[in-house]
Amino acid sequence: MRIKAIEVGHISLPLVHPFKTALRTVEAVEDVVVRVVSDDGTVGYGEAPPTAVITGDTTASILCAIREYIRPALVGMDVMDLEAVMRRLDGCMAHNTTPKAAVDMAVYDLWARAQGKPLYQLLGDARQSFQTDLTISVNPVDQMVSDSLEAVDRGFGILKVKVGKEGLADVDRMAAIRRAVGPDVRLRVDANQGWTAEQSVSIIRAMEDRGLDIELVEQPVPAHDLAGLKEVARAVDTPILADEAVFSHYDAARIIEERAADLINIKLMKTGGIWNALKICRLAEAGGVECMIGCMLESRLSVAAAAHLAAGQRIITRADLDGPSLCAVDPYTGGPLFNGPEIAMSDNPGVGVENVPCPAWSD
Ligand code: MG
Repeated sequence: MRIKAIEVGHISLPLVHPFKTALRTVEAVEDVVVRVVSDDGTVGYGEAPPTAVITGDTTASILCAIREYIRPALVGMDVMDLEAVMRRLDGCMAHNTTPKAAVDMAVYDLWARAQGKPLYQLLGDARQSFQTDLTISVNPVDQMVSDSLEAVDRGFGILKVKVGKEGLADVDRMAAIRRAVGPDVRLRVDANQGWTAEQSVSIIRAMEDRGLDIELVEQPVPAHDLAGLKEVARAVDTPILADEAVFSHYDAARIIEERAADLINIKLMKTGGIWNALKICRLAEAGGVECMIGCMLESRLSVAAAAHLAAGQRIITRADLDGPSLCAVDPYTGGPLFNGPEIAMSDNPGVGVENVPCPAWSD
């Protein structure tokens, strides 16, 4: 089964609410969609969200990377020789993890379809369903409280609250949300690099002193500040999750070796796809560090690939795969079911998503 063509298109989906973090505000999912076609006509799908503030990848850079570097490197290769394809994908250019992820997941989709099995079963078959959290955007406290209550009404028992813009005022923000949702909802905090190490320690200790029962704090300090991350992880009891600090398995190895964080957030758009994400899983298992699977602002197409990875890997114990729940519409059929907080794997071969409406398929 050889790769005959790699085509790109564009998808635009409105969000339920504008997505606001310490880094950006976004109104709609605007992603590049990738279609890898084999010589027997089988098609594998991938998706590439241009998250420039995190990965540096823009729509134009994604299209250029796929058309001018990735496609010439991969066309003609045998999909069933997965290792050779992935090595070439990884090595055909530096960085550009987002376009690599889109093509990586489309190749995995083809590879699993060719074997007639859902991808998660080929990746380890760890679980058939799991729960995701839902992100609550940074807003005035009253709105965050009402958004949190709405999420709980929708059945979400785990909320990931975006903070990081207002220092110690974030403690009051979390206290208001905890009061509103009660003790049984799991609350995660994501500062998106918004604090210094010193601020992080005082803010997180204040949350602990007030008994807010925060499950974890994600990326409190800037991505490059590994010493700061380690200082925070040492100083507080709340588990610290590294997100923007971990793109590659080399980053993961350093974090694990130095115990600079308690948990690692794997996102396909940071690793460059499933192939490299699996390397992080192996290191995390060896180091006894549990992982979360996360996503950017993505539709159910690429989040489905991430769900397969999570369902295949035992070390991925937490999920932040709320992209489909944040989108106001889901144009696809097939693949994992996203039913509120519950993600249930399906028996469709490959990643399984079909009916990918993308009018601008082109070379
Ligand atoms: Mg994050």
